Amino acid sequence: MRAVVTGGAGFIGSHLVDAVLDRGWSVVVVDDFSSGLTENVTRYAGEPRFEFIEADICGDWTVEGPVDLVLNFASPASPPRFLERPLETLEVGSTGVKKVAEMAIEKGARLVQASTSEVYGEPQVHPQPEEYWGNVNPIGPRSVYDESKRYAEALLGAYHRLGLLDVGVVRIFNTYGPRLQATDGRVVSNFVHQALSGKPLTVYGTGRQTRSFCYVGDLVRGILALADLEGELGPVNLGNPQEITVLELAQVVGDLTGVSVSLEYSDLPTDDPTQRKPDISRARALLGWEPEVSLREGLLRTIEWYSANALPADAV
Ligand code: UDP
Repeated sequence: MRAVVTGGAGFIGSHLVDAVLDRGWSVVVVDDFSSGLTENVTRYAGEPRFEFIEADICGDWTVEGPVDLVLNFASPASPPRFLERPLETLEVGSTGVKKVAEMAIEKGARLVQASTSEVYGEPQVHPQPEEYWGNVNPIGPRSVYDESKRYAEALLGAYHRLGLLDVGVVRIFNTYGPRLQATDGRVVSNFVHQALSGKPLTVYGTGRQTRSFCYVGDLVRGILALADLEGELGPVNLGNPQEITVLELAQVVGDLTGVSVSLEYSDLPTDDPTQRKPDISRARALLGWEPEVSLREGLLRTIEWYSANALPADAV
């Protein structure tokens, strides 16, 4: 078996590469390092089942030979990263997805698309089941990410219904773990890095907004379970339903790092969702999947990884 992982130098992509190689498969990574890291590719140097193509998925690139599965995980994903590159984010979620789909059609491969809980926008239904249509502000700054992911779902859903391509869509809720870059700008990477560096933890808004954080190992298991379920489009929510406020997260990070943390408040970003929690009934029923790693355990593993890996001096 041979898989293509676009965005394989990124956070979730690189964990997918590990999991695919662990299955004994070969893997081809397509990435342009626009947000991924070279070390996530050089890590596999000398591995004969690993190939790398340096390319923007929106540009010209080809994969030689047979492909059984395509995992499309190329996109800026954290709010600061997609907000600083709005046009590229729209392009990768539209032109890029189409190019990846055309490659999968040519190869006769199943394609699993990384979608997002951001398709629910500022949710009026809580927790969010897949049937909920969402409440996205189509003209706000976050729309570049939210709407391109919604477009990708629409495009790939059309291919699937036309019988042109076998697609599975995963809607990924907030995910964290080793390899989440300290400069990524997400709350877990910021808080862990800040606590370990003796800096105040930056809380946006009141800190009473909620999120539900899933450990990356659990997420990857769910993605591959949907990949294995040929013919199933989904979409399927993948996330950990354990919901906490940002302030509670700051407290837990303080406890686990053994640091008495101070907080520094600043403005809430525009259209930052007030609450978010996945309804994972569909993932349970279809995939027999649910998260196994608690927030404390996952954070401990993440803190350990941050402590063992040099942190860039200019990080948050
Ligand atoms: N957040 C925060 N401090 C930070 C980074 C993020 O308070 O240093 C908040 C952010 O406003 C949001 C939540 O934490 O309410 C999760 O943000 P993140 O960027 O991790 O993911 P999002 O769910 O917004 O995509």
